[in-house]
Amino acid sequence: MDCDVVVAGAGPTGLMLACELALGGARTLVVERRKEPEKHSKAMGMQGRTVELLELRGLLDRFLDGAGLLKGGNFASLGVPMRFEEFDTRHPYVLLVPQLRTEELLAERALELGVRIVRGDPVTGFVQDADGVTVETGGGTLRARYLVGCDGGGSVVRRQAGIGFTGQDPHMYALIGDMRFSGDLPRGEGLGPMRPVGLVNPERRSWFGAFQHQPGVYRATVAWFGEPFPDRNAPVTEEEMRAALVEHTGGDHGMHDVTWLSRLTDVSRLADSYRSGRVLLAGDAAHIHLPAGGQGLNLGIQDAVNLGWKLAAVVRGHGGEELLDSYQSERRPVADGVVHNTRTQAVLIDPDPRYDALRQTFRELMALPDTNRYIAGMLSGFDVRYGTGEHPSVGLRMPDADLLTADGTGRISDHFVEGRGLLLLPEPATAASAPRGSAPAASPLADWADRVTTLTAGIAGAEPDTAFLLRPDGYVAWAGHPARHEELRSAATTWFGAAG
Ligand SMILES: Cc1cc2nc3c(=O)[nH]c(=O)nc-3n(C[C@H](O)[C@H](O)[C@H](O)COP(=O)(O)OP(=O)(O)OC[C@H]3O[C@@H](n4cnc5c(N)ncnc54)[C@H](O)[C@@H]3O)c2cc1C
Repeated sequence: MDCDVVVAGAGPTGLMLACELALGGARTLVVERRKEPEKHSKAMGMQGRTVELLELRGLLDRFLDGAGLLKGGNFASLGVPMRFEEFDTRHPYVLLVPQLRTEELLAERALELGVRIVRGDPVTGFVQDADGVTVETGGGTLRARYLVGCDGGGSVVRRQAGIGFTGQDPHMYALIGDMRFSGDLPRGEGLGPMRPVGLVNPERRSWFGAFQHQPGVYRATVAWFGEPFPDRNAPVTEEEMRAALVEHTGGDHGMHDVTWLSRLTDVSRLADSYRSGRVLLAGDAAHIHLPAGGQGLNLGIQDAVNLGWKLAAVVRGHGGEELLDSYQSERRPVADGVVHNTRTQAVLIDPDPRYDALRQTFRELMALPDTNRYIAGMLSGFDVRYGTGEHPSVGLRMPDADLLTADGTGRISDHFVEGRGLLLLPEPATAASAPRGSAPAASPLADWADRVTTLTAGIAGAEPDTAFLLRPDGYVAWAGHPARHEELRSAATTWFGAAG
């Protein structure tokens, strides 16, 4: 074997997955089609749950450096702020980090963790057998135990695996790009916080929106609804963008210094399966949709954090088919929810006056605390739930509470940098002198000490006499009275493999 896992694609999903696999002890090789890293950013925003996950891995400080914060988020540009602060989180905002920077920082981390990244070498095909996958690339043949397609919406891996990509064709079309304007830009109403300048044109069923993301540089979008649409794959020219501006806003507003242009639609599709034997899919390779509300990159990073520790455990012999299958059963419904909410947004941003009543109803609904929380939970990823159990916390993300340990104070997030599981035993201490990160002799999970850290701590805000078993991705695997050892050990076996 050349490595344990080949990851196709060094976008945000592939790079985050590579970091997680390496942390879990899997030898990982990333194969990227492009010779050089991408020079322009698609995504600009990172949702709260992704921010929390970066913090769990000790990466947040790198991302905060120079980043902006957007409070209230954006749903369908309705102008109704979402109350992220209603969630038990330290990060109730959208972090404004260009995708380019995200990829740069994740590549830096992957290299620190010993991942090999080969650029300018596309995956062209593969054949799998009982023991592994033979991966064909432009540069030759690789042999690995698993292949993960993180190769974007047009995924070669998904196609070669014969996995269907089911969904809806577009009803919206847009030209998007980065540029400067020497003239005044139109200032319309109701475009929401991400598009502070713009114009809605109900007669033509079109709109123009722009926001400044660097001094003087605008991310501008001209969108229109109803076919016929130009060829999605043809390169966009400056003339085409200028013509669209003139047609839909009445002028080009002195457009100049165009550095990036692309096409965008609301086509939405979800992979019928996330796995075919030793081949898996993650990120845009598994789901595509309108980038409304800023969710795609977040879905991809959260796919990676869900899959990475599981696949690494399987490679190391600590997990089997069921653990690997839980990746699809946990992540596909989340992507399905995002596909649905972006389809909803695609209708709400259609300026056809026939949808004015729908928009008004949505604004009223989003002003209600429960509805606001429902939508804010979906967009931020705070409401993601992986199953249920007897205790109400099971399946939910563990909020980053303050801890009081024998060593002093700390936070739950301090204990996930190495990507291990965590057993939190409540005070009174069973082994007060045990150093942080080691399993006290009395730990009911002493037999899993190579995979699960046991920590005795007072947890701020938690009910007394409750122990929590947390997965490496920060979700609650089990919670209950610390004396219920049999249940606890059974949960440990499910998520961390056999004792020993
Ligand atoms: C205009 C726009 C704005 C957006 N804004 C946001 C936002 O604010 N927030 C958000 O969360 N999301 C946003 N998104 C979505 C986000 O950009 C994507 O969801 C994200 O890029 C997906 O990451 P990925 O790594 O899965 O795929 P990609 O970013 O597509 O990366 C795939 C990688 O695989 C490589 N590759 C392709 N084929 C092969 C092959 N055969 N072999 C090897 N390598 C290959 C590609 O070169 C690329 O580097 C936006 C998208 C657009 C278009």
